[in-house]
Amino acid sequence: MRIQTILNRVENFKSFVYGAADLEEHDDGPALVVKVRPRTNSRPICSGCWKPGPPYDRLAERRFEYVPVWGIAVFLAYRMRRVNCKRCGVTVEMVPWCDGKNQLTTTYRWFLSTWAKRLSWSEVASIFGTSWDSVCRSVEHAVEWGLAHRDLSQLTAVGVDEVAWSRGHRYLTLVYDIGGERRRLLAVSEERTEASLRSCLESLGESVCGQVQHVCSDMWRPYLNVIAEKLSQAVHVLDRFHVMQQFGKALDEIRAAEAKRLERDGYEPVLKRSRWCFLKRPENLTDKQTVKLSELLKYNLRTVRAYLLREEFQRLWEYTSPAWAGKFLDEWTSRVMRSRLEPMKKIARTIRTHRPLILNWFRAKGMVSAGAVEGLNNKVKLVTRKSYGFRTAQVAKLALLHNLGDLPEPERTHRFC
Ligand SMILES: [Zn+2]
Repeated sequence: MRIQTILNRVENFKSFVYGAADLEEHDDGPALVVKVRPRTNSRPICSGCWKPGPPYDRLAERRFEYVPVWGIAVFLAYRMRRVNCKRCGVTVEMVPWCDGKNQLTTTYRWFLSTWAKRLSWSEVASIFGTSWDSVCRSVEHAVEWGLAHRDLSQLTAVGVDEVAWSRGHRYLTLVYDIGGERRRLLAVSEERTEASLRSCLESLGESVCGQVQHVCSDMWRPYLNVIAEKLSQAVHVLDRFHVMQQFGKALDEIRAAEAKRLERDGYEPVLKRSRWCFLKRPENLTDKQTVKLSELLKYNLRTVRAYLLREEFQRLWEYTSPAWAGKFLDEWTSRVMRSRLEPMKKIARTIRTHRPLILNWFRAKGMVSAGAVEGLNNKVKLVTRKSYGFRTAQVAKLALLHNLGDLPEPERTHRFC
């Protein structure tokens, strides 16, 4: 069987033919070079207006990198024709395997970007004998194509979130699709300012934003402002995940201060290694942690009091009527305000400030899923951790959209990987 037969099976270009194939020995290993020529009587396509025109002349041979086989690099070799176009003048022809000045064929770029979802970009580069930059540009191409071709017509609920993406305090603003079946990342921008969220929403387009009926976010003031401005028609919900997130920080603070105080005053260090006992939900504790927690609950500690206040607050989410939930919130916050646990009082004040938005949770019940924002937030952290080599925010953005954007890809007749 001839190599051309296989090539025609995996990728057939209508107006071009695969010619002679040669195995060359390069410094970095063997390379299979397959000549490509235009089909007889086919006319070149002008890259200016995408119309066929009369051939003008031919340029020197160029090589386009194709998907490697058996550890052998593969190149298509072709002498580009120039077109004498009556509209555009003399232009270089358009070829179906590659766009513009790219040295990688489109098929190879999709191949690399698919692998870049499964492995780190540097691993992909080293396995397939290409550069990190080529992998990066392939991913960029896949993301651009996907963004241009995705369908946002069914979008009705979005979640707004922030994530730290490198050591230090560098943030990205994220917008998710949290309505319906499809949980996906829609947009990413740098920082967590008003401008960040504004640019995310603008990338979705005004009419898509106008379609949104529910929006979930945390209590970050710049986000609240932009949501009020850009998604004014939507019901704005402070989601459960972000409301509960505050308790973790408060409990940590109280526990750390108290542990220090106990040690200083010469008491038994009962709070040692107790962090997760208090932070996790009781049903997620290990057996050992459950035993430890029930021991700790016998002490009259500030940490224990704060813990019990949080556990009590969890009951909020069982309400179905906004009115009763509101009554519960008022009672809970007044009790906390008398507690002399400053970090808890801070939460109570925040909750009072945002009372209407928290109660919107009960008005939106069923329309936004409780776990959606949290689930996507965890996936984002996984991706950022896996590719710790993010050098720039731009790369972080690409990797996140590539992995979590659920972006469409062109239909292909052959699956390469
Ligand atoms: Zn033209």
